Amino acid sequence: MQLWNRYFLASSVDETLELLLQYDGQARIIAGGTDLLIEMREGHRPPQPVLVDITAIPALTTIEQDNDQIILGACVTHARITHSTALQKRATCLVESCGVVGGPQVRNVGTIGGNVAHALPAGDGTTSLVALDAEAEVVIDGERHWRPILELFQGPGVSLLDSTRDLLVRFRFQAHQPHEGSAFDRIMRPQGVALPILGCAVWVRLNADNSHYEAARICIAPVGPTPRRITAVENMLAGCPATEDTLEAAVALAQEVIKPRTSKYRATAPYRSEMVAVLLRRALPAAVERAKTTMPVTSQ
Ligand SMILES: Cc1cc2nc3c(=O)[nH]c(=O)nc-3n(C[C@H](O)[C@H](O)[C@H](O)COP(=O)(O)OP(=O)(O)OC[C@H]3O[C@@H](n4cnc5c(N)ncnc54)[C@H](O)[C@@H]3O)c2cc1C
Repeated sequence: MQLWNRYFLASSVDETLELLLQYDGQARIIAGGTDLLIEMREGHRPPQPVLVDITAIPALTTIEQDNDQIILGACVTHARITHSTALQKRATCLVESCGVVGGPQVRNVGTIGGNVAHALPAGDGTTSLVALDAEAEVVIDGERHWRPILELFQGPGVSLLDSTRDLLVRFRFQAHQPHEGSAFDRIMRPQGVALPILGCAVWVRLNADNSHYEAARICIAPVGPTPRRITAVENMLAGCPATEDTLEAAVALAQEVIKPRTSKYRATAPYRSEMVAVLLRRALPAAVERAKTTMPVTSQ
């Protein structure tokens, strides 16, 4: 079966938008194709008259650090994120999450923008971008603007972006500063291609003597139709000492407020609830330890 009729390799954002406009809903963006091609091949999405490949657009493939802000092109691949020394230090959870996506072949072509635009509640890169409180620069209805990343998620697999008309350009978020750190971990069946049972990204900021939490952001996914922050736990942590007792209080509260469903593709609800505890007990202390050693950006 022929999956598309015409294939364009766009060289700029403007050219992409012109092609989408010209084909008026008949052209679709393709990045790494690791989600889209499988969806079309397996009949979950009809063959597409026109595909517009955006992976050769220079502005979409850069990783930039502008003082304390990181700007990440939508077409940066998981492999490049994983190998970036700047991101290893300044966005550690993102590096860890992109490092577990699929296998090397998938990471070499799959992009962070495709992970977000596909809008699944358990995208690994997405989970960390949520914990990093990222914003996405999008072109929607011809208007280019920044949106909080969570606004892009409308339902499982349903994005605010219509990828036959709109473009996700890049992401921005704060690079880790002194007393800040992050971590990602995931529970997954070890065998074959499987869905994750749960993933967890944590970002923390400690006070000046690293004894107390000043702020925290936590995303555990999938526990609903769209990714979301566990704000009850985040609020509880702020101001608390960074101790074992606080960790256990955070775990207890997380298990109270997060109600993962039983899923035949993932695991039972009680097991997944246990994994909430396992993941938090791994990710929260890891983020805290890293926060204690993060250097100022200027000393890089
Ligand atoms: C074997 C295998 C294992 C995988 N394992 C994992 C895993 O462990 N964790 C995980 O999170 N994912 C996994 N995935 C899913 C997939 O690899 C990722 O979600 C990847 O990041 C998708 O990016 P892509 O560039 O390939 O997207 P594509 O397939 O090119 O596009 C996905 C969708 O997003 C749209 N789109 C892409 N980029 C843009 C843009 N810039 N603007 C607007 N719309 C856009 C496309 O039109 C399409 O609808 C796996 C996939 C495979 C095949």
